Amino acid sequence: MNQKKIVIVEDEPDILEVLSYNLKREGYKVQSASDGVNALALVRRELPDLVLLDLMLPGMDGIELCGTLKKDPQTQHCLIIMVTAKGEESDIVLGLGVGADDYIAKPFSPRELVARVKAVLRRGLLVERGEQDEVIKLGELSIDTSKYKVQVGEREVKLTASEFKLLHFLASYPGRVFTREQLLSKALGDDVVIVDRNIDVHIRGIRKKLELEPPLIETIRGVGYRMTDHF
Ligand code: CA
Repeated sequence: MNQKKIVIVEDEPDILEVLSYNLKREGYKVQSASDGVNALALVRRELPDLVLLDLMLPGMDGIELCGTLKKDPQTQHCLIIMVTAKGEESDIVLGLGVGADDYIAKPFSPRELVARVKAVLRRGLLVERGEQDEVIKLGELSIDTSKYKVQVGEREVKLTASEFKLLHFLASYPGRVFTREQLLSKALGDDVVIVDRNIDVHIRGIRKKLELEPPLIETIRGVGYRMTDHF
C-alpha cells in the first residue's frame, strides 16, 4: 500500500499530539517539526505528500515557510494546508497568495481535519495525473470545455467568455478557495478582452444565470470564492 506522508508543523505539543494521533489512525505516515527552520529541513529531506502548517510559529513564520516551499522546485509539489487562527482572513489571503493549497481555521475537530486532508490529497492526485475531463460534472452542473457549453440539468446557460473561464477554473478545483487576485491572474490572466476586471461582478453574473440555490460558488468572507464540494 502506498502510504501517504504528512509533515505536521505545530509548536503546541498538545495540538500536535491530537493531530498526529488522528492522522496516524487514518493510515498516514506522520512526522513533525515544531519550528519553521526544522520544518524546512524536514520537508526538504522527506518530500511529504502534504504539509499541515501552523502559521503562528517561532522563528520563521508559516507564510514565509509556505512561500519558500512553493518556490523551491524540489518541494513545490508538496501540498500545503495552512492552519490559521479563527478570524485571521488576512493570513489566509497571504497564505493562498504564496501558494498554499487550502486552509483550516482553529478550532477544528479531528473529523474536519481528516476530511480536509483527504480532499486536498485527492485533488492533488487529479492535478498530478493531468486528469482534466472534457466534461466536468458537479451535481446538476455540467461544463463541456471542448464545446464551451454549460448546462444546469437540461437547460443550457449562456455565459460570457470571462464568466465561462471563471466557472470552469473554479469547477476544476471543487472545495479549493481562491482570492480575487488569484482568480484574476489564474483564471482570466490571458483574457485580453475582459471588459470588467471586477471578479465580484462576474461571479454575480454566473450565479444569476445558473439560478441555483444555494449557489455553487460560495463566498468566503474576507478571502475570496470557492466551488462547493458538497453535491
Ligand atoms: Ca502555533
